[in-house]
Amino acid sequence: MTEPLLIPCPHCNGLNRIPAERVGDHPKCGRCKNEVLLAKPFDLRQTDYASQIKGDLPLLLDVWAEWCGPCKAFAPVFEQAASQLLGTCRLAKLDSEANQQLATQLGIRSIPSLILFKNGKEIARQSGAFPLQQLKAWLQSHGVRA
Ligand SMILES: [Zn+2]
Repeated sequence: MTEPLLIPCPHCNGLNRIPAERVGDHPKCGRCKNEVLLAKPFDLRQTDYASQIKGDLPLLLDVWAEWCGPCKAFAPVFEQAASQLLGTCRLAKLDSEANQQLATQLGIRSIPSLILFKNGKEIARQSGAFPLQQLKAWLQSHGVRA
């Protein structure tokens, strides 16, 4: 038996313990009963931040804004990445206009910006959009199984 993975729920921020061999089985949240791992990006709000960066699965955050053309062009790539990385990396989007305080706290100077977190800490950051293969290569270079 391997150690269970600690994974925050994207719906209620509850921290779940999920056996590593069960991450592919659509595990449900112990608190709100929704699925913990999603095949698409979820929207991160300021109030979710501290809970969502925790856990054993990395969180990749896409910081975007409605008026940003490159952000919109990148959105389908990010969605595709979310489905391909199901169970290895969690993907979330931060609307920098709706969450200006957090965007400032994160020191966002240009968008789109990608920030990778693991176990509550930022481990990598990159600004600008990537094609999918390059995004996966970047994640791999930071230890994500992509
Ligand atoms: Zn939940």
